[in-house]
Amino acid sequence: MTLISDNNVGRLTLAALAMLALATTAAHVQGDSAATGSVTINSAFPGGNVKVTHNEGDSVHVAPDLRGDSPWFYWYLEATAVKPGRVSFVFPEKVAGFKNGAIGYQGPAISTDRGKTWNWMGIDNVQGNAFSFFFTEKEERVRFAVTIPYVQTDLDGFLKKNASNPHLTNSVLTKSRHGRDVELLQIGKPGPEVKAVLVTGRHHAAETMASYVLEGFLQEALSDSPAGREFRKRHVLYVVPFVDKDGVEEGDQGKNRKPHDHNRDYGDESIYPEVQAIKKLAEAKNFRFALDFHCPTLVMKDHQVMYFVGAKEHPKHNFENVSEFAAWIKKGLPENAPFGPLVWLRPAAKPTPMNSHYFGFKEGMIMAATLEIPFAPPGKASDPASCRRYGQVMLHAWVNTHFLAPDPQSQVQGKLK
Ligand SMILES: [Zn+2]
Repeated sequence: MTLISDNNVGRLTLAALAMLALATTAAHVQGDSAATGSVTINSAFPGGNVKVTHNEGDSVHVAPDLRGDSPWFYWYLEATAVKPGRVSFVFPEKVAGFKNGAIGYQGPAISTDRGKTWNWMGIDNVQGNAFSFFFTEKEERVRFAVTIPYVQTDLDGFLKKNASNPHLTNSVLTKSRHGRDVELLQIGKPGPEVKAVLVTGRHHAAETMASYVLEGFLQEALSDSPAGREFRKRHVLYVVPFVDKDGVEEGDQGKNRKPHDHNRDYGDESIYPEVQAIKKLAEAKNFRFALDFHCPTLVMKDHQVMYFVGAKEHPKHNFENVSEFAAWIKKGLPENAPFGPLVWLRPAAKPTPMNSHYFGFKEGMIMAATLEIPFAPPGKASDPASCRRYGQVMLHAWVNTHFLAPDPQSQVQGKLK
């Protein structure tokens, strides 16, 4: 009896629901045709990335555009107000495997001058997987991103600023798959007592904060400070700032790109022109050091610090060298810098197809490592100026480090205060 009664109620409810649904659909359709969202969304600019799933009223549902690759958290959009008012930007609850994984600990990055300058917005207007912004007038245009972007125009700005620096040479490493020139910078000159260093960035396109640190490192290597001069006396520096050149400009995730990403391309058969060219360059220039700049995940607790990864005993004294280098960095970093760098090098019997392992297992190498820079750790300074300063500290630290070579005749003595 109870069952029959329930069924009847069920039928009634279903019928009522169906009518309600019809009415709602009608209203919904009417609503859609009468009004669109309070903002229009655009991502057709360098580094742009967004997938709009729903845009109506004062809330717009967006997600990282994966473009056929694996889940990750990079997005960078421009919103233009149709009318003044508060708008919510709602992301999927889970992004890249993390709850609220599309917005970091300092909120989204925001630019009101179309991407020229950026700040972290903070978390006052962040609610879980969404953030909101109050547009004060029609046509107001604001860019938001998961991180502070660093694209070709940023690198060009750096190169322009240093165009007359006699220690800097800019050439083309190779062409990317999509026909872009991939920069190869050189700082200093080769010589009999000079050891070649390779530094790389953006094997993973989305890891923008590492580019600001790298820029600071290069700026100091170019400078006439005692550290800059000492560095150039001992080293010639080769730099590939954008390894995944197309990914940087096109706003791809980059990480876990299919069939494998640029930092998993150091096996026997490299598929990306940039990695093929880096391997060739290694043969020509006899690198003794390789340092690869990255950023880790966005919201994972363990990834809110700076840290080194790589093969512990490849090259032979890698652990000692990275440890001393890290200690000098730590000593030089300002108080509000991210914690670290920690040394998380691991024993490796044979190389994985990553940059740090490829060079770590190469004969004659002194140090080979990956340096991870957190995107926006809570309570720490991670704006472009601060990150450049961290890079400068790293160059100083480099000069201070007593690098042990596998062959004792070629030790590099740290001697600067
Ligand atoms: Zn990376």
